Order: sequence, then structure tokens, then C-alpha cells
Amino acid sequence: MRIVIPPSWRTRIYRYRITATKCKKCGRTAYPPSNICRYCGSREIEFVDLLNENARLITWTIIYNVMEGFEERRPVILGILETLDSKARVMAPLTDVLPDELKPGMVMEPVLRRIMEEGEHGLIHYGVSYRPLIKSSQ
Ligand SMILES: [Zn+2]
Repeated sequence: MRIVIPPSWRTRIYRYRITATKCKKCGRTAYPPSNICRYCGSREIEFVDLLNENARLITWTIIYNVMEGFEERRPVILGILETLDSKARVMAPLTDVLPDELKPGMVMEPVLRRIMEEGEHGLIHYGVSYRPLIKSSQ
């Protein structure tokens, strides 16, 4: 019997975090992470997890042509958000919201959501999505 470690296991640390770098000199946050601050050039950086922060929606795009296996998730809404504290820009799928309910500036929170399942008894893959912090009652 051959035991294969699934790729999702190896990449789990990255998949369940949104790792960014924060500059210790100027305090700005970069995402994707970078060893050198893109704002001031300092190499004094620390890693921060943007999953600990809510974010404000800047803009989004709605994707109707989805990959095979993702049909039930159609349409996929991909958002660009700015985290409230770090002011880092993040691109991630939006969930628990209809396209009509989206408004620029709305506050959203990161959540782990099932992305796909490999067969009936297979692995379940999770990824980070953002959902409205307070869902509109209208
Ligand atoms: Zn800096």
C-alpha cells in the first residue's frame, strides 16, 4: 500500500492563513508578503496573519464561467478588499452574499469555506473567503 500525502496537507499552513509582511520601520503592510518593504526599502519585517482582521470591500468582479467541478458555486464573486488595521489589499472570493447586496466600503470578515471535495468520501479542501460582517436585512 502506498501512502500519498495530499498537496492540501503540505500547503495547509498557507491555505488557512493570509500571510502578509509588516514593516517594523514604517509600519506598512504588504500583501503578498515581501522580504523588503516596498514602501521604504527596509528589511526589518515581521509576518502578520490578515485572517485576524476584518476588511473593507473596494471592488469586485463576478465570474460566470467557472472551472469544471465548481458549477454549483456559480457565479463566483472575487473581491478586492483592504484590511481595516493593516491596510493591506487582499483578493479573495466573497461568500454568503448576492451580487446585488454588494456595496463598495462594506465591512466583511474572513471565513474558512469548503472549496471542493474529492469524491463522496474524499478530502475536503478549505480556503479563505470573505462574507459581510452584518448582513443587510433588506
Ligand atoms: Zn517600510
